[in-house]
Amino acid sequence: MNTVTVKIRPEAEKFTAEEDAALRRAGSIIQSGGLVAFPTETVYGLGGDALNRESARKIYAAKGRPSDNPLIVHICRLEDLEKIACRIPEEAFHIADAFWPGPLTMILHKTALVPSETTGGLDTVAVRFPSDRIAGRLIRYSGGFVAAPSANRSGRPSPTYAKYVLQDMDGRIDMIIDGGQVGIGLESTILDLTVSPPQILRPGYVTGEMLRKVLKEVDTDVTILGDGDGDGQAPRAPGMKYRHYAPAGELTVVEGSPGAVLAYINRQTAEEEKAGERTGILCSGENLCRYRADVIKCVGSRGDDEGIARHLFAVLREFDDEGVTKIYAEAFDTAGLGQAIMNRLLKAAGHRIVKL
Ligand code: AMP
Ligand code: MG
Repeated sequence: MNTVTVKIRPEAEKFTAEEDAALRRAGSIIQSGGLVAFPTETVYGLGGDALNRESARKIYAAKGRPSDNPLIVHICRLEDLEKIACRIPEEAFHIADAFWPGPLTMILHKTALVPSETTGGLDTVAVRFPSDRIAGRLIRYSGGFVAAPSANRSGRPSPTYAKYVLQDMDGRIDMIIDGGQVGIGLESTILDLTVSPPQILRPGYVTGEMLRKVLKEVDTDVTILGDGDGDGQAPRAPGMKYRHYAPAGELTVVEGSPGAVLAYINRQTAEEEKAGERTGILCSGENLCRYRADVIKCVGSRGDDEGIARHLFAVLREFDDEGVTKIYAEAFDTAGLGQAIMNRLLKAAGHRIVKL
């Protein structure tokens, strides 16, 4: 299959006639059962018709994703929610009011309109209403219901640039819409509203604190920062049990005081280099010039969580581009958005963490 890439200016207020025509073309590809990758405010998504079981199968095949790992259905109008979800609790409308359109996914009971292939066999459906204008227009032109997991091969870091979608999906999908770098850089927060109190299954840009301003009570899945099986608890977002976000090199997260982390990592990279490894360090800006390795990448300033979130996945992929075989990463604070950052980083490391 030939994968066509079309560029759409992310910053422009209005679409040009050509851009609009390209989005219409993308929409008709999805309507006729094809796959189109597109930017959202979180990461690039791999879109197919959420109401077509054949499209869901194609998404799993293109990603190499296990078919029991359900897809998120993207909508572009609040009224469409009730077509795919039923027995919707009042809280869901408060959440929609506060955070939609935006980087938040709700788990609700599904209607018969949604095929079980889209939901990985579950009787619940994950729904998101993205704020990105390219995504919104594409969803509208696609018929209103677009199933879209992140547009990476299963297990790889989510793509935050179109070039990384191409790297993973060239020849596997019909079209890529290149809308530049995404804004947030981490996937949406997933909130399960089929349980009481509602539970965060995956942390994201919308934090527990933000949700608690709208809902009285919100729980957090205990496996979010754990290794998922330490206490026999299986994660409730089926996808979270799979290896995720991983670079090709072996990644280790190092936690401790800045001085101890610096000394440990420099000692490790010196030893690994002697053993013939190509080493990499993922760090904050503060200590950048004091590290020694083949490839040193700054992911942002400590304290600038938004910057770190935005760069994390691209930095993980850059280590692959540079052939790094052993990577050491500083650990980050887990307050606020930091919880989502550490959730992704620990999964990328397969929970290999050194605590000093
Ligand atoms: P991705 O599409 O890569 O952002 O991954 C989607 C995530 O949403 C995966 O972790 C899925 O397991 C999770 N998810 C989708 N639908 C459901 C659902 N009905 N219940 C729980 N988690 C879900
Ligand atoms: Mg994903």
